Amino acid sequence: MFCRCENRFGAEPNELVCPVCLGYPGALPVTNQHAVDLAIRLALALGCKVRPRSVFARKNYFYPDLPKGYQISQYDEPLAKGGAVPLPSGGNVRLHRIHLEEDAGKLLHEVPGGGPLPGRSLVDFNRCGVPLVEIVTEPEIRSPEDAQAYLQTLHQVLLYTDASDGNMEEGSLRCDANLSLRPAGSDTLGTKTEVKNLNSFRHVAKALEYERERQLHILAAGARVEQETRSFDPASGATRSLRSKEEAHDYRYFPEPDLSVLVLAEGRIERQAEVLPELPWAKSARFRDSYGLRAEEAALLSGSVALATYYERAVAAHPAGARSIANWVMTEILRELKERKIPRDAGLLAGDSGGSGKAAIPPDRLAAIVALVDSGELSTTAAKDVLSEAWDSEETPDRIVDRLGLRQVRDDDQLEAWADAAIAANGKAADEYRGGRKQALGYLVGQVMKASRGSAEPRAAQEILRRKLA
Ligand SMILES: [Zn+2]
Repeated sequence: MFCRCENRFGAEPNELVCPVCLGYPGALPVTNQHAVDLAIRLALALGCKVRPRSVFARKNYFYPDLPKGYQISQYDEPLAKGGAVPLPSGGNVRLHRIHLEEDAGKLLHEVPGGGPLPGRSLVDFNRCGVPLVEIVTEPEIRSPEDAQAYLQTLHQVLLYTDASDGNMEEGSLRCDANLSLRPAGSDTLGTKTEVKNLNSFRHVAKALEYERERQLHILAAGARVEQETRSFDPASGATRSLRSKEEAHDYRYFPEPDLSVLVLAEGRIERQAEVLPELPWAKSARFRDSYGLRAEEAALLSGSVALATYYERAVAAHPAGARSIANWVMTEILRELKERKIPRDAGLLAGDSGGSGKAAIPPDRLAAIVALVDSGELSTTAAKDVLSEAWDSEETPDRIVDRLGLRQVRDDDQLEAWADAAIAANGKAADEYRGGRKQALGYLVGQVMKASRGSAEPRAAQEILRRKLA
C-alpha cells in the first residue's frame, strides 16, 4: 500500500520486504495510487459515496507482526461511506464505510514444512504493507445464513471489479464477524463479540452459530457478555477468547504525519465509474429477462464473469437456444471441466479465446452442438458423445456427427418407408393401437428405431406412425 514490494502469495518468508514495510527508521511511505483506484471502483460498485478527501491515520498497537508499532489505516475520514449489497433472497445489507489500510505480517507457530516450535514463533513480513480495504456493514444482518450470503455476493463483486483475486485460502478475503443479541421486540443490541480472521464462508456461518448459542447461554444464566475478540477453531467448531476488545481510544489514532491528505483529483472517481462492469445482480436480472432463465439459473450463470461471458458467447452463436445452452453449460460443461480437472473460470476463459489444452470447448462449438439437438438432427444422448469428441478437436461438430453416423433421419420418405414396414410386420400392435391401447405406439416407434439402427428422429417417427395408423 505504501511501498513497491510485490504482493504475491507463497514466496519464501521475508523475501518480499523493504525498509518501508519493515518499518526502518527514516523510511517514508508513498501511497499506491493503483490500490486507491481499485478501492474507488469497488466502493462505486457497492453503491458507496466516495469522498474526494480522506485522511490516513496511525492505528497504534504493539504486536510482533507489526514492525512499525502502528498500522496505517483511515479513521474519522474514510475513503467511502454508505452503500449496500443486495442479497439473493431479496433485501439489502447496508454498508457503513469502506477504508484503505495496510496488512500486517504473519506469525508462524511451526517451521514451514517442518515441525512445531515449542515456546517460540517465527514471523513472516511478506504480507506487511499489502493493500487492504476494510468494508464495514451496518449491524443489520440477522442470521448466519444471511452473513454467508452477504459475503458470497461481496466475493463476486471483488472478482467482477478486479479489486481482489478473492482467494480466501490465501487470505485475500477475510472476515471479522461481530455478533450481539437483543431481547425479542427490542431495538437495542447487547454487547458484541468479534470473531477474527475467518477465511471461509462456511466458517463464518459456523462461528456465528456457535457465538449465538454461547451468548444465549450466558444471558440465560443472568450473566453479562464480555466485549472481546475471539478466534474460531474449524476443527472443533468453537470460538475462544483471544483478548478483551480494545476501544477506539486504545489505539491512539492520529493523522499519519508522513502522508498528505488523500485528495482525489477531478475526474478520478468518474474514470472508475466508466470502467465499472455490469454487476452480478444486474447481470442476473438481465439473464432472466433476456433469455427466459429461472432465477436460480440466472444466479448461477452470472456467478462469475468467466461463466457469464462463456454463456453469452454461446448464445450469440445460437440465439434461439438460450435456454438449452444454459442447461448444457450448467450440467455438461461444468461436469466435463471437473472430470478433466480444468479450473472452472480459467478453463472457460481459455475456451472463450479459442485456446485448447486446459480449456473448455469454445462456446461457438457448444452452440453448434446444441443447435443440432434443437433441430432434431442429433439426439441428446448422442450430443454428449459429440461434446466429448469435439472438446479438444479441430473437427467441427457437424463433421463429427457425420463421421460417427449420429445424424438422425428426419427425411419423411425414409421415415415413411420404415413406418410402413413396421406396421406391416406388426399387425397385432397396430390393431391394438387402433383399438385404443395407446402404449402400442411406443412399441412401433421402437421398431422404426431398430430398423433405422437408431438414426430415426423419434419424435418425427412417432408423428408419422400416428398419422398412418389414424
Ligand atoms: Zn515493502
